[in-house]
Amino acid sequence: MKNFAFHRPATVADTLSLLARTGDAKLLGGGTNLVDLMRENIEHPDVLIDVSRLPLADVSEGERGEILIGATTRNSALAGHRLIRERAPLLSQALLAGASGQIRNMATVGGNIMQRTRCAYFYDEAARCNKRTPGAGCDAIAGFNRNHAILGASPSCIATHPSDMCVALAALGAVVHVVGPGGARTIPLTDFHLLPGEHPELETRLRSDELITAVELPPLAAARRSTYRKVRDRASYAFALVSVAAALEVERGEIKALRLALGGVAPKPWRVTAAEDLVTGAAATAATFERAADVVLAHAQGHTHNAFKIDLARRLIVHVLTELARTEDAP
Ligand code: SF4
Repeated sequence: MKNFAFHRPATVADTLSLLARTGDAKLLGGGTNLVDLMRENIEHPDVLIDVSRLPLADVSEGERGEILIGATTRNSALAGHRLIRERAPLLSQALLAGASGQIRNMATVGGNIMQRTRCAYFYDEAARCNKRTPGAGCDAIAGFNRNHAILGASPSCIATHPSDMCVALAALGAVVHVVGPGGARTIPLTDFHLLPGEHPELETRLRSDELITAVELPPLAAARRSTYRKVRDRASYAFALVSVAAALEVERGEIKALRLALGGVAPKPWRVTAAEDLVTGAAATAATFERAADVVLAHAQGHTHNAFKIDLARRLIVHVLTELARTEDAP
């Protein structure tokens, strides 16, 4: 591992000042992804800024009923928080579906958002990877691509985003709060991650001199009845082949509101609002949910080893929504 300078600022202002002074700096949260990348020589920053002890670990309710989640909140603390368990159970479920207990105890909300793909070729210095070395090629396209994307990919990169938490945040309409030298700004979670296009090395809208400070969940009645379902190759400590985050509000058999996002299928958490709009006002039946799945998967494209994900995603969407509708109807 290359030598690097290490800083542990006490305040956000000190962090921004360090970011402004240092060129190739990386922010360290729980280190559960970045340290692995440094060990594998995929990331080799000159400067590491440990932001895990910044005073940004509160989870609180705002005046409008929104929930504010500090960026250094640990994943396990967030999963167990009363506000999250009561008001957005799908987020709690998504967090608990990710990684292991030890990793969740370390991982921060900001770091979870910023984690990088687990494409095996990205981690293999001997493989060609456009994300690691722009213009080098992509060995996943003709290689073993069981875990790769069926939506939003490009001829340059077919990697998936690995986060479970972000899929739930996408369904919840979360907004990311960031701060930089120009002040604070917000970015909708669904816009935060970039599709690969011709530049898979560019992954987020966060600038190199900015810091994530919080994630905001807007008030959402449907979120109280919500769920996260993850299909993976083994029962724990595995990334999603396909996951579904859904919140459904049904009244007398009619859909009042639907929020739906998929994980494991795209380079970013995948939410298709057109599918939600299409079924709002329709009967909460399996046939309606199949129509929603058709819209979500209309442009899905499989590769040699992952075409099964298209049918799996379709069946999972219909299954999850049918179960949620049944819960809504229960007395
Ligand atoms: Fe690299 Fe993306 Fe290809 Fe994986 S899919 S090898 S991350 S370019």
